[in-house]
Amino acid sequence: MMRIMFKCPKCESTRLEEVMGNVTVASSLLGIAEDGYVEYAVQSNDGGVVERYQCMACGHAIACTTEDAFGWLKKHGMLKKWN
Ligand SMILES: [Zn+2]
Repeated sequence: MMRIMFKCPKCESTRLEEVMGNVTVASSLLGIAEDGYVEYAVQSNDGGVVERYQCMACGHAIACTTEDAFGWLKKHGMLKKWN
């Protein structure tokens, strides 16, 4: 396991996110309003497949699979030993 030291080549944001599709999301509710607003307690995700890895700020995608994301991060010197 390596620690990710992501830096977006486009906007320099340091947050990398994984985007998943085909996910069933179940949410525990705390409150509900007549206009349709609800207050969530906890969410749990079930299943799903990785669609891409991208910058959280600008959406710049770096890879479509976990293996490619690892390779991209390694190539750009953005992985550090976890200790
Ligand atoms: Zn970015």
